[in-house]
Amino acid sequence: MDNPFLKPFTTPFDCVPFELIKTEHFKPAILQLIAAAKQEIDTIVDNPDPADFVNTIAAMDRAGKQLSIASATFFNLDAAETTDEIQQLAQELSPILAEYSNDIMLNERLFQRVKQVHDEVDTASLSPEETRLLDKTYKGFARNGALLSVENKDKLREIDKQLATLTMKFSQNVLQETNAYQLHIKTDEQLAGLPESILSAAKTAAKQRNLEGWVFTLHFPSFVPFMKYAANRELRKELYLASATRALKDNEYNNEGIVRDIVELRHSRAKLLGYGTHADFVLQERMASSPTIVLDFLKNLLVKAKPHAQQEIVQLKALAAKDGVSEVMPYDHAYYAEKLREATYDLSEEALKPYFPLPQVLEAAFDAASRLYGLVFELRKDIPKYHDEVAVYEVLENGRHKALLYTDWHPREGKRAGAWMTSYRGQWTEDSGQVRPHISIVCNFSRPAGDTPSLLTFNEVTTLFHEFGHALHGMLADTIYESLSGTNVYWDFVELPSQFMENYCYEKEFLRSFARHYQTGEALPETEIDKIVAASNFMEGYQTMRQLSFGLLDMAYHTGKLDAGTAIERFEKDIVQETQLYPDVPGTAQTPSFSHIFAGGYSAGYYSYKWAEVLDADAFSYFKETGIFNPDTAAKFKILLASGGTVDPMELYIQFRGRKPEPEALLKRAGLIG
Ligand SMILES: [Zn+2]
Repeated sequence: MDNPFLKPFTTPFDCVPFELIKTEHFKPAILQLIAAAKQEIDTIVDNPDPADFVNTIAAMDRAGKQLSIASATFFNLDAAETTDEIQQLAQELSPILAEYSNDIMLNERLFQRVKQVHDEVDTASLSPEETRLLDKTYKGFARNGALLSVENKDKLREIDKQLATLTMKFSQNVLQETNAYQLHIKTDEQLAGLPESILSAAKTAAKQRNLEGWVFTLHFPSFVPFMKYAANRELRKELYLASATRALKDNEYNNEGIVRDIVELRHSRAKLLGYGTHADFVLQERMASSPTIVLDFLKNLLVKAKPHAQQEIVQLKALAAKDGVSEVMPYDHAYYAEKLREATYDLSEEALKPYFPLPQVLEAAFDAASRLYGLVFELRKDIPKYHDEVAVYEVLENGRHKALLYTDWHPREGKRAGAWMTSYRGQWTEDSGQVRPHISIVCNFSRPAGDTPSLLTFNEVTTLFHEFGHALHGMLADTIYESLSGTNVYWDFVELPSQFMENYCYEKEFLRSFARHYQTGEALPETEIDKIVAASNFMEGYQTMRQLSFGLLDMAYHTGKLDAGTAIERFEKDIVQETQLYPDVPGTAQTPSFSHIFAGGYSAGYYSYKWAEVLDADAFSYFKETGIFNPDTAAKFKILLASGGTVDPMELYIQFRGRKPEPEALLKRAGLIG
């Protein structure tokens, strides 16, 4: 079969030849490319020469390049333009690809060569980037148990197997408990406060269940607006209790035992690998290198944010008192916060949209990249694409090719919800020169209708800048090795470039430059700009306390604080006590449905949300001090972006900022300190 993935691409910049690709090409291509990649690994293993950096570590980074491009193309399409066929194929190919990477990680002879380089090569003879790659490769094996005795390796595999089962059971229980509940409302009076769009969704939900009236559920799109708008306090309480007792009730879906087992197994796993706790294990590969640093970080923010959070609650309580609510409870917060927001800002999302047509916002993002980094974006019509709505830009720096940028803005059947940045090809350097990246941004913004362009909400404007920030990280990448390139950085560092770009959306001077009415050309009124900036900090103190409570709880579980004698609810409440702004509701707990840390990948990592905010605020404050488009400051940040993971992130940050990150800029931006 003539398979486009199995011969060199003959497209501009060797980009993916979408017009030639059919779904049936993927499986044979990926299977054959896996076999070829295995061959490349075998060649490394069978090399009769002693292991050195070039013939082992660098060779591993170079193995499987074609496979990466074929599988990236496949999974990018599965996310942005999927079909039943592609979905089915994904089910089939995912385990095969997982097995391929597992085979590499468990390849004993390969590890022996990596270890030889690690133990014997004088790092003084290596460049800093080479040293990083060696360390990353070695740790990849060691953290997966390569250094353990045969007996302990078996133990580790057994723990991993149990953890996989338990974390899956955890999420199934949460899902079960989420789906098991519905609030069925039959009379209009109980719906006071709820906007029309929410009611119509609730009506549809009722119809789907063959019920009259309205149905609300514990799923976010139903739960969140109900808590925000429903005037009926008893019903808010009911829905809140239903949510906060999920997987905590005395039934077969209770997660308390599973939480204990997961925590215990993670602890044993870390011990087996030579770490004090699970948090020590996780944080070794993070910018916030140790549990002490994370805990100091969280507690420092707590002390500084709490007075402000208490102040916010005073205003909210005053508002609630007018309704005769003498004691504001957790289930009252969202409702009165929304009332307070409306009273304070009177900001209508709909009224703002005509000032943010997509083409204008994108132009502004390009303009920022041009002023900051000298990049130019040229629309190319000759680049193959997977859908008519995709646009492809060639990105140039001083007239030289830098990257390709694919943009895909609108929702379609076959596209996942949300917004993301991804790539079709990464960046690396070969003897013959640089291989430049092919980056993509995918969003779900409303599509143009007739003469009306796609009009963005302000939230979508910041989303565009966020993803564009990730894209810049990818496009500016300038490293030798792909494993250290672009967004291949530590988890708690990867959101710095994206969140950094969001800051520009709140800069009045910059906003004025592009927020214009799409019909009249009229500039967005100053009063509205002021409101956008002011509203961005609304209830920031409360939100901070909430994030800190999750971060502290996560760290407590993963630093071995839970003992057998303490009930989960008690344990949680003791840990989060300092962060609570409202009275306790007995019989409720977050832990049994805290999927981020017990089923997702966030264990000992929840802090990273706030950590990344501190970084982006601190980085941007340097721009505020020197000018938001200051060329010298931008040149320094460009180095940080171009370096990817070739330098330790703290070192990299210090090179840019001249010092370690400090939380003051975030607290100031958030209005938490004067
Ligand atoms: Zn992001």
